[in-house]
Amino acid sequence: MPTSEPLIVLEGVNKYFGPLHVLQDVSLSVDRGEVVVVIGPSGSGKSTLCRAINRLEPINSGTITFDGQALPAEGKALAKLRSEVGMVFQSFNLFAHKTILQNVMLGPVKVRGEKVAVVRERAMSLLDRVGIASQADKFPAQLSGGQQQRVAIARALAMQPKALLFDEPTSALDPEMVGEVLDVMTALAREGMTMVVVTHEMGFARHAANRVVFMADGQLVESAPPVEFFENPKSERARDFLSKIL
Ligand code: ADP
Ligand code: MG
Repeated sequence: MPTSEPLIVLEGVNKYFGPLHVLQDVSLSVDRGEVVVVIGPSGSGKSTLCRAINRLEPINSGTITFDGQALPAEGKALAKLRSEVGMVFQSFNLFAHKTILQNVMLGPVKVRGEKVAVVRERAMSLLDRVGIASQADKFPAQLSGGQQQRVAIARALAMQPKALLFDEPTSALDPEMVGEVLDVMTALAREGMTMVVVTHEMGFARHAANRVVFMADGQLVESAPPVEFFENPKSERARDFLSKIL
């Protein structure tokens, strides 16, 4: 497969929660190595979009393809997709009774059946990369929120995903810890990881994104490089949103 083909493609995606039309004819394609930041008001469908991409949320119509394949509905193919699309949430979701190292090793060993020694080495090098190697034998509660979120990123990377989805990864953090998490994400972006990032951190959007996507009321309203979007937003809704947060 030519690497020029986009990694993630959504075409005409619709999603309802009962009568609520939360994704309205959403089309979006994400190139390999591209970093797309998704912004928009609360309730506009950003989390649902992320969840649809790794099929935590089924869609009602339209198509989503990942790496050239339609999203599988179930079974082994779905498990494989999930392991190829890492997800980092606002709440870190680490296992409280497992050590940091065990948390990072769990997926590759249990889900994918990889050799423990191989996974341990990879996990330690990932913990080193996010600056947590010295805490490997501690438990999540012994770490700060920023450290726990960096562990969550290492855990996602341990599965060697083709893309990472971040849903407001810094929203639950104390302000002084936001920077250390964004630094790790910025480094990943520079290294060429394909990323979809829902965030209110406009500094990150400006410096690390290739493209900013603005959502409102379930619609993808604008999609533009950050400079263009921030300097010259085209829609009234985007201008209104930016005036409130900047
Ligand atoms: P955002 O992440 O942009 O804040 P969401 O994708 O979480 O928005 O939600 C979009 C809309 O869908 C909101 O109106 C929300 O209340 C609704 N919604 C989200 N999840 C569910 C659900 N599981 N059941 C019913 N409604 C939901
Ligand atoms: Mg959300």
